[in-house]
Amino acid sequence: MVMATKNILVTGGAGYIGSHTVLQLLLGGFKAVVVDNLDNSSEIAIQRVKELAGEYGNNLRFHKVDLRDKPALEQLFASTPFDAVIHFAGLKAVGESVQKPLLYYNNNIIGTITLLEVMAAHGCKKLVFSSSATVYGWPKEVPCTEEFPLSATNPYGRTKLFIEEIFRDIYRSDSEWKIILLRYFNPVGAHSSGYIGEDPHGIPNNLMPFVQQVAVGRRPALTVFGNDYNTVDGTGVRDYIHVIDLADGHIAALCKLNDSIGCEVYNLGTGKGTSVLEMVAAFEKASGKKIPLVMAGRRPGDCEIVYASTEKAERELDWKAKYGIDEMCRDQWNWASKNPYGYEAQDSSK
Ligand code: NAD
Ligand code: UDP
Repeated sequence: MVMATKNILVTGGAGYIGSHTVLQLLLGGFKAVVVDNLDNSSEIAIQRVKELAGEYGNNLRFHKVDLRDKPALEQLFASTPFDAVIHFAGLKAVGESVQKPLLYYNNNIIGTITLLEVMAAHGCKKLVFSSSATVYGWPKEVPCTEEFPLSATNPYGRTKLFIEEIFRDIYRSDSEWKIILLRYFNPVGAHSSGYIGEDPHGIPNNLMPFVQQVAVGRRPALTVFGNDYNTVDGTGVRDYIHVIDLADGHIAALCKLNDSIGCEVYNLGTGKGTSVLEMVAAFEKASGKKIPLVMAGRRPGDCEIVYASTEKAERELDWKAKYGIDEMCRDQWNWASKNPYGYEAQDSSK
């Protein structure tokens, strides 16, 4: 591994994608320092990552810090030289962002600006950022390539769009920055141990966490948002990607930061589209559970079909997703059946 002894700051590293990425970082020989305010996560995820990493677990540190707490970030950067930052921290619930736009602009944008100011002050100018396929809006055609026009249909998406623009401006102003913007498609699944996985607080917004809660009896049925789309079975089509493939995409991006790169953007997806009903069928097969369905109207702001062009990431990051939907559902169910109430049962602070 090229960056074997590098020290990486991971914001939002206790969350779903962050915790899986931290594990892959540790197993790859990196040191990781996680900052997270635990707004949508549990410290138990950090403990479990440490255990899963075995002898590498000692290379993980955790600080309960809000990114907007500049003095706390300053202190951290003053005490630890970081080679690069992976920036996951942010709020991500589309519906909530429509209700509370200022909360989203404050948390996601002020958090990012504070991080960038502290990084610049300490000469740390390498960063990988969690962007999203949401910046393609309702794409006119598929697969989505990185050159597609960008738009946003809700405040959450606008925070991603604005932050991407902020990064492009920063690079234009100072070419020492090396920035990779990763546009995730739909991350699902969990680590194959079933020991870490997605555990959203409140009612899940995304398809698979909801399906998982129906399967374990926490909710009676899945509401399918729209069955009149122009797709294979009328339901929305997305590009689901196994969270471990996604995590590995971050390691590939970190390695790429060593090259002569400026501010680059890459899609992380599989390049394959799957409908809601196809995903439910794959989950039923993997779990042996029946998922009762309630057909409902389209969810406002939803698009019909979104899937990625993966060519650029394959070519330039030398990365390609390995897992298909059967493995995604197998691992999602393994996590769900072992932790039907997520980390909560073990987390006395909640
Ligand atoms: P998550 O909610 O599980 O993780 C985000 C973490 O950030 C949480 O642990 C939360 O407590 C933390 N956080 C939020 N605001 C913070 C702040 N101000 N200071 C410190 N910590 C803070 O979400 P995730 O699914 O792991 O997503 C990670 C990133 O990827 C987010 O930026 C999200 O917008 C982006 N993304 C996610 C998806 C998806 O479907 N999961 C898709 C595209 C992009
Ligand atoms: N979806 C659904 N019921 C739910 C959640 C999602 O039918 O409870 C559908 C949604 O309309 C979309 C697909 O599942 O077609 C993926 O939705 P998700 O919110 O996970 O991802 P996004 O729409 O942000 O890509």
